[in-house]
Amino acid sequence: MTFQDLNLNTPLYNALDDLGYKTPTPIQAEAFNVIASGSDMVGIAQTGTGKTFAYMLPIVKNLKFSSQENPRVLILVPTRELVVQVVEEIEKLSKYINNRILGVYGGTNINTQKQAIAKGLDILVATPGRLYDLALSRVLQLKSLQKLVIDEVDVMLDLGFRHQLINIFDIIPQRRQNIMFSATMTHDVTVLINAFFKNPVQVSIAVSGTPLENIEQARYNVPNFNTKVNLVTHLLNDTETYNKVLIFVAYKRMADRLFDRLSSDFKEELCVIHSNKTQNYRLRSIEQFREGTNRILIATDIMARGLDIDNVSHVINFDTPDYPENYMHRIGRTGRAERKGNSLVFSTKSEEQAINQIEALMRMTIPLVTIPETVQISTELIEEERPQITERNNPTKRPDENTPGPAFHDKKEKNQKENLGGSYRREIAKKYKKPKTRGDKNYNKRNKKK
Ligand code: AMP
Repeated sequence: MTFQDLNLNTPLYNALDDLGYKTPTPIQAEAFNVIASGSDMVGIAQTGTGKTFAYMLPIVKNLKFSSQENPRVLILVPTRELVVQVVEEIEKLSKYINNRILGVYGGTNINTQKQAIAKGLDILVATPGRLYDLALSRVLQLKSLQKLVIDEVDVMLDLGFRHQLINIFDIIPQRRQNIMFSATMTHDVTVLINAFFKNPVQVSIAVSGTPLENIEQARYNVPNFNTKVNLVTHLLNDTETYNKVLIFVAYKRMADRLFDRLSSDFKEELCVIHSNKTQNYRLRSIEQFREGTNRILIATDIMARGLDIDNVSHVINFDTPDYPENYMHRIGRTGRAERKGNSLVFSTKSEEQAINQIEALMRMTIPLVTIPETVQISTELIEEERPQITERNNPTKRPDENTPGPAFHDKKEKNQKENLGGSYRREIAKKYKKPKTRGDKNYNKRNKKK
């Protein structure tokens, strides 16, 4: 299939030409007609498959010029970084079209964003929290919304955005097209779809859990954290092979700890992102890694999901993810756009179970590689690796000290009264049968008839 088969228009063909894209990716080819037809759609596709253009091509093609000011397309993404990235992608596609595109996200000055909104826009890319705040402030009017895209919905639910999404569904027009993308189908995603989507067409290009074929995977059995540090240092010393390395760790503290440990050897080449870092720091880190100023980026799962960074030579799973889907997300950061990629996973004895699950999901065994002899095997354990010593017979500790108390109690009687507004108003209303609501002129008439 070629882009010609999609029947686009000249401005879009020119933009695609400038980008050097010759043929649609499978998800683009499959999603185009479904989205163009106006049906609700759920796309199962990993990042790197070209899914941003899969929804933007039909949307931009069918978005007619309008001078009205309220957005007609809303794209919700889980992180600020993704807002920036998606806006950039749409701008590239809209190079020869007069689309007004705006990205908004939390953690920055809301007034600047309000001013930008007031100028009028067609396509809004947003994180859910900030979108809701802007809508409540009434600067942002969502009444003209025709299409809602929720990208990376699985990450969104992971991050606890479920309620925000539901709040947003409440304030946008009922008649709209819903388009949703998720890398994996989880129980939570299915529940959300069933509740808010109308018979969505499912478009799936890779069964969730299928590894991208152009990624070469390998596994090291490593006894502990300190040995993992020694091994990763050994590998990173080969700057030619390991020229753009994304290192995944499970949580923020581990990211900081690894950053500290690697700083002595790789200070100038190292950056880190996790959700406790400021937004500027995160954007700068990603930019430096993307441009190649920094060779090594340490990241937690959520932060790096969905990030589109080209030419990552190696993904190193510094730990083995508990959820096999996360492994799929991580390794999907390399081998993008049909290029060859490499993924290494370090696993300790306690992570073997997780490796089994990953291998079961992929229906393949990750080849095991032995640790090079020059790498020192450490026996020193870090805090988390030491056996937990449970306190027994501690006379000062109450037996239930660690169990949480009841989380809910009834209100006191005096607080249970319902506030019905001023009593005087109610009395007068009873006496004169005044309209209960302002503007309800027929109230008295209606009640007289009864
Ligand atoms: P995404 O999955 O949307 O993050 O896209 C992954 C990367 O593929 C991005 O850098 C896109 O710009 C790029 N891309 C999107 N569509 C195509 C295409 N048809 N041909 C080549 N590259 C593409």
